[in-house]
Amino acid sequence: MFIQPLEPNNKLRYYLALDGRSKMNDQQIADYQKEQAGFQGEYDFEQFIKHYEETVVLSGVYFKKRYVGEAQFDFIVIHRNKITYYEIKNFKGTYEMADKVFIGEVGNHVKHPDVQLESAYKVLDAILKETRCPYVFEKYIVFIHPTYFFKGDTNKATWLFRSTLKKHLKQYETYNNNIEENIQLAKHLQKLSLSLDHYQPIKTPFTMEMKGTLCPKCRRKIKEKEIGMRYIHCVCGAKYSNRKLILSNLRDLYTLKEEAFNMNEAVEWLMIFNRKIIWRVLDQYFKKTGTLKGMKYYL
Ligand SMILES: [Zn+2]
Repeated sequence: MFIQPLEPNNKLRYYLALDGRSKMNDQQIADYQKEQAGFQGEYDFEQFIKHYEETVVLSGVYFKKRYVGEAQFDFIVIHRNKITYYEIKNFKGTYEMADKVFIGEVGNHVKHPDVQLESAYKVLDAILKETRCPYVFEKYIVFIHPTYFFKGDTNKATWLFRSTLKKHLKQYETYNNNIEENIQLAKHLQKLSLSLDHYQPIKTPFTMEMKGTLCPKCRRKIKEKEIGMRYIHCVCGAKYSNRKLILSNLRDLYTLKEEAFNMNEAVEWLMIFNRKIIWRVLDQYFKKTGTLKGMKYYL
């Protein structure tokens, strides 16, 4: 059971909104690819853990503890009397270790994941001690990518690989007689979680030149003649209801503009939909400020 499911962080959300609307510079592209790869790894882990219905899961929570530090937690899984923190690494290809640094086959260096795991563990441990919860607390790094290979000793109790993950997760098949309490604890942790606003993307100044209704999947601009009565079939194979497509593209507008927008801007942004259907989507999914003609919409 997911108390807080996986979602793209605000950095990735920004790049996804910008994709196909404005040319990104090399730094933005590199940052975008890094975020996408990380998210893909977390998504893959979610595909594994979602089958274990006896677990209570939180994703992407972020804690700060005075004198201890701060950390983001990819996944926290609560089951019976155990809390387990999983840090997901989506490293591709072969890695080896030299001077406490992980080095990939193309010479890329990454911080030793054990260091990150340990400092994050201390933050969560301090928080759990405060809640006085009598839980066993474990931590793991999951190297989720199928091509990941570590040249060296992999026999570490805190390391899991895609090939060993299923065996590890088997423990969660056991009936959970403590699930109500687990849910309460997860909700409590969710309340303590802070927002991740400080992970900022490299921004491009907003202009209406970024407008257009784009397919959320392939980022191709949709033409007016492609709109069906209720659905749009994109050439990439994706199918959306008109409302879903409008919603997704208005989210892009709000994400890139970073402030409330009015009806005229929404119409201009989408280019191919009439006011009536746009108004219905805005009314259903967006918050409103102002009155009548001055009405502005935000999320
Ligand atoms: Zn498409």
